[in-house]
Amino acid sequence: MVFEEYEKPAACWAGIDSYKGQERKCLTIILRSGGCTWGSCLMCGYTHVRYGNRDPAFLDRKIRAQISWIKREFNLDDYSLVKIFTSGSFLDPQEVPPDTQQEVIRAFRGKVVILETRPEYVEEERVSILRETADTGMEEIPLYLAMGLETTHDFIREKSIRKGLTTSDFIGGAERAHRAGAGVKTYLLMKPPFLTEQEAIQDMITSAQEAWRWSDLISLNLCTVQSSTPVEWLWRNGAYRPPYLWSVLSVLSALDRPISCDPVGGGTPRGPHNCGACDPELVDGIRTYSLTGDHSLIDALLQVKCGCKEEWRYVLENEMSYSLPLTR
Ligand code: SF4
Ligand SMILES: [Zn+2]
Repeated sequence: MVFEEYEKPAACWAGIDSYKGQERKCLTIILRSGGCTWGSCLMCGYTHVRYGNRDPAFLDRKIRAQISWIKREFNLDDYSLVKIFTSGSFLDPQEVPPDTQQEVIRAFRGKVVILETRPEYVEEERVSILRETADTGMEEIPLYLAMGLETTHDFIREKSIRKGLTTSDFIGGAERAHRAGAGVKTYLLMKPPFLTEQEAIQDMITSAQEAWRWSDLISLNLCTVQSSTPVEWLWRNGAYRPPYLWSVLSVLSALDRPISCDPVGGGTPRGPHNCGACDPELVDGIRTYSLTGDHSLIDALLQVKCGCKEEWRYVLENEMSYSLPLTR
C-alpha cells in the first residue's frame, strides 16, 4: 500500500512504557478521525479533535496520510509497543472506516498494538481480522483493546461521568475481544465530579480489584480539568477538585497487583495535585512505579513528610458530598 499524502496526526510522541514487567520503547499516536460518536462524557475535552466530515473516502484518505507522516517522522523499527487513540473509538466505523482500520494496523504489524475503543464497537469477527493483521508470531498477544470502564459502579459511571454504558456492556465487549484473541486493557478514572476524596479512593480500590476479572492490563487515569468541559465549569465555580496525589498513592498501595498510572498534569491546579511543594517528587515516584511495579516505592512515597498531608487527612474525614470540595 502506498501512502502518498502527508497529514499530521493530532499528536504523536515516543516514550518508554511498561509491558508485562518489561520496559519497552513505545509510540503513542492520537489520530484525527471522524470524532467520538458518543461525545458526552463530563470530563472529556477531546470531542473537538475531529474532522468536520465523516465521509468514509475522505476519512480513509486523511487517516492514511497521517500514517504516512508517522512513517516519515519516526523509525518504526525502534518501537515494539504502539498505542493508538482517536479521541474516540478506533473501532467505530463512522470514525475510522473498517478498511482504514486494517491499513493502520498493517503499518504496525509485528508490534504490540493497543487500540482505544468503546465496547459497543467490539465485533468478534472484525477484531479477529485485525488481530491476524497485527500478528507475525512475535508477540503472544499482538493486539489489545483499551476500553474505558472508568469504575465498576454503574451509578457513578452514569451520574459522575455520563459514559452511557454499563459494567455489563463493558464485560460483553471484553468477552468478545478475548474470544477474538485480543487482550483487554481497562481504563479506570479516579475522582470524576460529585465524589468526595474518600469516596474516590474507595471507588478506585474496589474497581481495580473487580476489573482484573475481565482485564489483562489496567491503567488508572486521574481526572483532570480539560478545557470547555462540564468538569471545567464545576472547577471554575469551586465545585470540583482533582484528586490529591496522596489519594492516588493510597489506591496504589491498597492493591496487591500493580497497575499503571501516568499522573498527567500532576502538580498543576487542573491535574492531580497536593500543595505544590511535594508534588514533583510524588509525580516522579508514581511514574517510576508505573514502569517497575515496585510496591515498596509507593509505601516509601506515602512516608514522605509534607504539611499538606494533614490537610488531606482532614479532607478525607470531613468532606461531605453536599459541601465538597473543602480545598482547591
Ligand atoms: S471519554 Fe471517550 S467516550 Fe467519552 S466523550 Fe470522550 S472520547 Fe467519547
Ligand atoms: Zn505537600
